[in-house]
Amino acid sequence: MDQARFENELTVATHRNDGTLGEFHDSFEDAVSTVEAELGASHPMWIDGEPHETDEQYTVTNPADRDREIGQFAAGSAADVDLAVEAAADAFDGWRRTDWRDRVEIFRDAAGRMRDRKYRLAATLTLENGKNRFEAMADVDEAIDFLRFYAREVERNEGYAFDTGEPTPGQHCRNELRPFGVFGVVAPFNFPIAIFTGMLTGAVVTGNTAVAKPASATSLVAHEVVETLSEAGVPDGVVNLVTGSGSDVGQPLIEHEDVAGVAFTGSRAVGREIRRTFFEREKPGPVIAELGGKNPVIVTENADLEKAVSGVANGAFGFSGQKCSATSRVYVAEALFDEFTDRLVAETEELVIDDPRSADAFVSPLIDDSALARYERICETAREVGTVRTGGEVVADTDLADGRFVEPTVVTDVPHEHEIAREEHFVPFVTVHPVSDFDEAIEKANDSSYGLCTGLFSEDEDEIEAWFDRIESGMCYVNREQSATTGALVQAQPFGGWKASGTTSKFAGGYWYLPQFMREQSRTVVGDAGRE
Ligand code: NAP
Ligand code: MG
Repeated sequence: MDQARFENELTVATHRNDGTLGEFHDSFEDAVSTVEAELGASHPMWIDGEPHETDEQYTVTNPADRDREIGQFAAGSAADVDLAVEAAADAFDGWRRTDWRDRVEIFRDAAGRMRDRKYRLAATLTLENGKNRFEAMADVDEAIDFLRFYAREVERNEGYAFDTGEPTPGQHCRNELRPFGVFGVVAPFNFPIAIFTGMLTGAVVTGNTAVAKPASATSLVAHEVVETLSEAGVPDGVVNLVTGSGSDVGQPLIEHEDVAGVAFTGSRAVGREIRRTFFEREKPGPVIAELGGKNPVIVTENADLEKAVSGVANGAFGFSGQKCSATSRVYVAEALFDEFTDRLVAETEELVIDDPRSADAFVSPLIDDSALARYERICETAREVGTVRTGGEVVADTDLADGRFVEPTVVTDVPHEHEIAREEHFVPFVTVHPVSDFDEAIEKANDSSYGLCTGLFSEDEDEIEAWFDRIESGMCYVNREQSATTGALVQAQPFGGWKASGTTSKFAGGYWYLPQFMREQSRTVVGDAGRE
């Protein structure tokens, strides 16, 4: 089984290695101008291959500049969800009977089309959800990887159907994984192309049909994905796009009796509610949910501090901490605590906060007003119960006043048990805690209901082995200077969580992901009719 060889789409790294980063910047900036000129349009839903209008609409604005409209989007209701589910249910028989080789071909074609328009997609992300150009392109690259990797997985497993032999004379047996029916796919704002595309591909390349709901804040890029799939040859009704709020559209989708399975990525609170609702229906099915994190990093006395400081700053503050994988609490060996903290503060103060369209921007704006309010509230609490070492304020720069820009924040002297060191906040906020030894560090790192991503900085091999053995986490990184906890690549670093961070413990972009979207059928035919 050739598992190792998968070439990730690495746009920026490739340009950097080739010495052509200038081309990357030019192409991105051209695409921003093109997309900006198109903004403000009105977007209906997409049901059964047709645009579907609604009476009500909602407006999406640019988080870096709230006066700039991204577009108007159909604000759906349960009645629109009914239509979309009906279209998906009608399309199911035709799609599940489509040869898996043809499905694989369509998704490969979609990957090529997405690659052709990658700059346009990255520019859309920068304008719609505030990612800087490097992070936006990484999000698009990951979406392309998901399309290609899942297509490859169906092919490698020959459609997940095989002969299981003749256990007793005359019994001819086969095993097949078969799709469930209509999948509800509900996506978050923070990887609005990668996660949306990945979940949708998982559902559909395996023969299900889908009704997809993007996060309201990132509706435009979802339209681009659905258009790409349609151009690649996904038949009408196989992928339907509904837009609107979680309560008006997401909830009725989850409650719909003709929805056979759910793929959800988002917060623990919403995920927990979805799971409960779905299991209480007449016909429960799979809920493939990827949820939040409170990702700990341990810096032992055997750490290389340079790597640790850089890894934590990048892990905590990339996309302003709005990543499920963001570094959010750091346990540092007492002997190194002061030096580590001072250097982290200095490095954090160097990070450039700017409009994400600018080439130098590192720190992004926050996605919505509730994130801004959450940031202000926890910084206030941090000032009361601990010490804010840097950050803690909304950015005062008048050039950025129309965006939700906040300072990346490093906090010390907060008890490990305190809510601000335990809950996921999804803003650029990290707490740093001294620990007396490695055991205390491991205990505190594991003392969380989450288990998504984690990092270790240590040059000691025994310590590294012990950490892998004892740490309770899905994604584990050692000495990762580029980022202590974020930035997984499809195939080599499958992405998912333990404990409350997920429901299935099988990871996106990994080898066990697709079987979750299918149910097993064991087939026996007695006698000659069963012979091949
Ligand atoms: P969210 O608020 O939970 O929303 C996720 C999606 O659920 C959105 O499309 C939302 O719609 C919808 N929704 C809200 N209420 C719903 C309901 N009652 N029924 C059905 N759908 C509903 O999450 P987010 O703010 O977009 O994303 C941040 C969260 O996602 C963080 O907790 C992060 O850790 C998690 N996340 C996890 C992973 C992972 O792989 N583990 C990856 C990325 C993000 P609206 O947008 O219209 O509200
Ligand atoms: Mg939300």
